[in-house]
Amino acid sequence: GGGLDARGAAAWIRRAAELVAAEAERLTRLDAAIGDGDHGHNLHRGFTAAVAALPGDAELGETRPGKVLIAAGRAIVSKTGGASGPLYGTALRRAGKALGGASEADAAAVGAALKAALEGVQELGQANEGDKTMVDALAPAAAAFAAALADGADLPGCARAAADAADAGAAATVPMQARKGRASYLGPRSAGHLDPGASSTALVLRALADVTGR
Ligand code: ADP
Ligand code: MG
Ligand code: MG
Repeated sequence: GGGLDARGAAAWIRRAAELVAAEAERLTRLDAAIGDGDHGHNLHRGFTAAVAALPGDAELGETRPGKVLIAAGRAIVSKTGGASGPLYGTALRRAGKALGGASEADAAAVGAALKAALEGVQELGQANEGDKTMVDALAPAAAAFAAALADGADLPGCARAAADAADAGAAATVPMQARKGRASYLGPRSAGHLDPGASSTALVLRALADVTGR
């Protein structure tokens, strides 16, 4: 008990979809300022597909959290346009793979899954911290999760620390000049705006804190 089982992983995806739906307009507005104005739409579509791909209630009692995340990641890749679809899909598939076949992931396993997600995103997108991308939310989140774990925090505590760090990381993208993705075409004019992908990444980590803290 106390860890993330298949039902917990499904609840995470559902909560992320809820937050993305609620914030879709704001994400799209952020993307209109420094991109092409579709980020909220892209992610809403992707997470709706991920929710639709979740196993049914009976099956969730028998499957594994890793499988749930891999299925969600696949659905996002197949249904989401833009740069963010493959990046989010990779993040979830790598996280799911890292969880392996365990029926329940403890805090350490979830921390390792976040780290694997970050590595997948960086491998695919070649962005470093400071490039004004989702990495600027995900990297501090993974680090804060690990630090909280080392301090003896439980899964809800680690997830809260990760979500708070992701919020701060997203906020810190405002003064940055984008060096990856569409926003980089604007050069110095990309500074002074919140990065949409970092902002949505913070929502997905908040969703994890919400469902583990229930
Ligand atoms: P597109 O730019 O193709 O329209 P979206 O609008 O859905 O795709 O997503 C834009 C977001 O994707 C950006 O705000 C940024 O956070 C993220 N992004 C773009 N390129 C990269 C990359 N190479 N690595 C990490 N994140 C990236
Ligand atoms: Mg866009
Ligand atoms: Mg686009």
